Amino acid sequence: MINVLFSARPERWETYEAPLRAAFAQAGLDINLSTDVPPAEVDYIIYAPNGPVADFAPFTRAKGVLSLWAGVEKIVGNTSLTQPLTRMVDEGLAEGMVEWVAGHVLRYHLDMDRDICRRNTAWQVHIPPLARDRRIGVLGMGELGTACARALAGLNFDVAGWSRSPKSVAGVTCHHGDDGLEAVLAHSDILVLLLPATPATESILNAHSLAMLPTGARIVNPGRGELIDDDALLDALNTGHIAHATLDVFRIEPLPDDHPYWAHSNVTVTPHIASETRPGTAAKVIAENIRRGEAGEPFLYLVDRKAGY
Ligand code: NAP
Repeated sequence: MINVLFSARPERWETYEAPLRAAFAQAGLDINLSTDVPPAEVDYIIYAPNGPVADFAPFTRAKGVLSLWAGVEKIVGNTSLTQPLTRMVDEGLAEGMVEWVAGHVLRYHLDMDRDICRRNTAWQVHIPPLARDRRIGVLGMGELGTACARALAGLNFDVAGWSRSPKSVAGVTCHHGDDGLEAVLAHSDILVLLLPATPATESILNAHSLAMLPTGARIVNPGRGELIDDDALLDALNTGHIAHATLDVFRIEPLPDDHPYWAHSNVTVTPHIASETRPGTAAKVIAENIRRGEAGEPFLYLVDRKAGY
């Protein structure tokens, strides 16, 4: 019998219990899944932030900590965590992110806010350019960024992407490293941020990098709040250098009531809903990783603790 502890907020247990049990059965795994297992008897921990486990030291026999979240910045620096840590790569999460990003990019591209007519507003015709003439930059060409870049390229946008290591993605001009960042920023009428929060990406969008964007650029951030120097973005919005920003993630969540983003007419705030891990598909990823752990095979989606993602 394999003991698996589910450590997340209580409401997550309600949505995950049945899909996890089904995925374990399908994988032929004999598992005792519970929210209450004595630490010394736990074989795997399914983890999400804000659950009961914060100290991993008592879990002396645990072979892995399996995150339900793609972003692991809340756990990666935990010094009590000596067990391997995996992050969530889930087809449902990626699909949701593609839909959210495509929706907000199309809102900007088509200037939808301007064109939605209300009674007594002027009948003004405005023809947006074709997608082929709109440049999109995607910072972060991992699981989610690549899926979004591909989908946007599929809509005919002129897409460039940026990552740490070199990439080759059909239909997307890929850049990497410090030199590549400038090229992507200069190419971004609409910039999408899908980097993880790490020491290296902290405030990657700052006064200097914002200045490299074309005048009137729009920003879509479903990545992490820490990617943006908020004061620099507000300055750039106030001068008009940045025309608009759609922000899903913030340094403090929920976004405090008195934060200037709420009142800014050129900022759209969404409450960290760009994409959710989907229990049905994610449970299969967790089951596969436990199967691998038991078979002595390498885990999928192992976090590089040094890089922080
Ligand atoms: P991922 O597969 O780990 O991809 C991260 C990408 O960022 C990779 O391409 C990586 O480059 C690049 N990168 C990391 N550090 C870099 C640096 N210093 N310079 C240049 N590129 C760098 O992660 P993912 O699954 O796509 O998820 C991305 C982020 O989305 C998560 O970390 C999380 O913060 C966020 N997210 C948000 C939501 C939401 O609802 N808002 C939902 C899920 C995830 P390499 O490819 O070279 O390693």
